[in-house]
Amino acid sequence: MSIKTDGILFIFSSPSGAGKTTLVKLVEKKENFFISVSHTTRKPRSNEVHGKDYYFVSDNEFKELIKKEEFLEHAKVFNNFYGTLKRPVMEKLNHGQNVLFDIDWQGTKQIRDKKIKFKIISIFVLPPSKQVLYNRLSNRDMKDKLIASERMKEFYKDVKHWIDYDFVVINDNLEKCYQEVSEIINDFEKFKHSYLAKKVKIENHVKKLLS
Ligand code: ADP
Ligand code: 5GP
Repeated sequence: MSIKTDGILFIFSSPSGAGKTTLVKLVEKKENFFISVSHTTRKPRSNEVHGKDYYFVSDNEFKELIKKEEFLEHAKVFNNFYGTLKRPVMEKLNHGQNVLFDIDWQGTKQIRDKKIKFKIISIFVLPPSKQVLYNRLSNRDMKDKLIASERMKEFYKDVKHWIDYDFVVINDNLEKCYQEVSEIINDFEKFKHSYLAKKVKIENHVKKLLS
């Protein structure tokens, strides 16, 4: 007889542009986890696919989903609405599949406050520096330079939420950062011990980012 274990929620948040979507996609590929695809009222970027990166919906469609209480969490981020549907996530978790979330700190807090029966591991992703972050944002949103500066304005508020997460990683070299994420995912109890020493380094890094 096999014993069924519940899936785990792995939540990734970061200031915009730090690289959490890139990391989440890497984890999905390498670990064969399921990514929770959010709904958003934001317009798609040129490389984004409906149903894969997001479900792109209108304001009215989004409001209807709120009304029907279909969301596990939802929030307004950078003047657009983003939300995670309850049903697909709960189905996967109940079937023992781990689920990856790329959501902001508001959504993370909402999920934590719901006190669901599944284990939650939260990871906050920091950029190596503000200049690198700005460069990444500008390269990603080349058509609209305003997007990069608008998102940089929110950086100072967003970065302060690092403290609410179980683990923090610095995404400088992608492969190195992924290795660290992989260690967390595969043995978070063991990683917790070595993490205490790393936390001092993280605190100093955040101070530098905020200066
Ligand atoms: P976020 O989801 O945190 O907003 P993305 O994953 O979209 O950020 O990454 C922002 C941009 O930076 C993307 O163009 C991505 O390809 C790039 N990027 C992500 N991580 C790295 C890295 N370690 N080194 C260089 N570029 C990166
Ligand atoms: P982007 O527009 O760059 O794809 O995402 C902007 C921000 O919205 C990011 O911080 C991202 O993590 C967050 N986000 C994406 N989907 C969701 C969601 O379903 N819920 C919440 N709360 N935030 C989300």
